[in-house]
Amino acid sequence: MTMKTIGLLGGMSWESTVSYYRALNEGVKTALGGLHSAKLCLYSVDFAEIERLQHAGDWDATAEILCRAARRVEAGGADFLLIGTNTMHKVAPQVAEAVSIPLLHIADATAQRLATDGIRRVGLLGTRFTMEQDFYKGRIAEGFGIEVLVPDEAQRDLVHEVIYTELCLGQVKETSRQRYLEIIASLRERGAEAVILGCTEIALLVQQRHTEVPLYDTTAIHAEEAVKWALEDQA
Ligand code: GLU
Repeated sequence: MTMKTIGLLGGMSWESTVSYYRALNEGVKTALGGLHSAKLCLYSVDFAEIERLQHAGDWDATAEILCRAARRVEAGGADFLLIGTNTMHKVAPQVAEAVSIPLLHIADATAQRLATDGIRRVGLLGTRFTMEQDFYKGRIAEGFGIEVLVPDEAQRDLVHEVIYTELCLGQVKETSRQRYLEIIASLRERGAEAVILGCTEIALLVQQRHTEVPLYDTTAIHAEEAVKWALEDQA
């Protein structure tokens, strides 16, 4: 059996696609050693188009872009698919439908890890779409019986703005890190046993060394699970 080829829909934003690319290759290198690296087929979109459609509420148009990209990745030889953003899992059902290869869902990978660690109540940081709509929280709550707490409205605005106006542009600011850490602390006070970094850029700003609250970085978890899928039939 040979290593499977990972399909990745990236560019949302490319700052986090860099994290995925590194994590996937490091994961394969750790598992197989030497000069081994991930077999990977990446389609990277123009995030400006996606962001405009998201904020206009035209999710069908975003789905069309990602479905087209997913078909190209499949045609390029991918054996399974990752959507390298939490938010765009809003259209994961349409994307999964557009291809015949399986989709590794970021919320399932994350919730599975939480469940294994015995976490029953978790805080969630992400874009407003991810924190406020049901496609993500609902999947974790209903699929895994884990209660999901989100920040209050003012905090959600701050978390969302920092993602789009700083992190997706590669800007990492100490003031924003402090605000995020305050929000993480307030989720903990409300009973969260851990916090999901439910946006693929957040780990650029906040890492485990900054807080005692256990953090679940969705980019790292998604990539680790993908490496397992890629290598599972290896002799
Ligand atoms: N990468 C982010 C996420 O994981 C936000 C960018 C996007 O809207 O796709 O949700």
